[in-house]
Amino acid sequence: MRNPSTDKPQYSIGTVAEILNVSVESIRLYERKGLLLTAKGDHNRRTYSDADVERLRCIRTAINEQKISIEGIRRIHALIPCWKHLDCPMKQRLQCPAYRRNIAGCWTYRHEGNVCAARDCQACIVYHLSADCERIKFLIHNIDPATLADPAHCHQRTDS
Ligand code: SF4
Repeated sequence: MRNPSTDKPQYSIGTVAEILNVSVESIRLYERKGLLLTAKGDHNRRTYSDADVERLRCIRTAINEQKISIEGIRRIHALIPCWKHLDCPMKQRLQCPAYRRNIAGCWTYRHEGNVCAARDCQACIVYHLSADCERIKFLIHNIDPATLADPAHCHQRTDS
């Protein structure tokens, strides 16, 4: 169960940059590339929540440790079958850029006349789950991690 307090925008971009030891320019770049959606507070200033900080931490891990490029992360986001998570009717899917294209996460598109048109992406389970580095594979394959066998039985092949 998600803790709604983690969604409360409270940090400035400068504070987030300090917390994560990343440049403000990098954070802005991730926003421009659609990896992150940002709330605007007073004076139209960007404000970030704890959930945003965790999302940025996941993005930094992917880039620095897993050597996945920004474009690579966009493509991974594009693989998330939002239509399965929101039970989107086939007629709407066939009209939807998130279903038809594979260049970026569903939240980067302007949605009209479909299940997402009136939804707030920043409050959506699909957007939130896409921030979890460890669970994104399950999100893409629409697998509930709770149903998986005990990981102790999953042995890494010695030759890989
Ligand atoms: S509401 Fe936004 S994040 Fe959720 S499925 Fe639709 S486009 Fe994706």
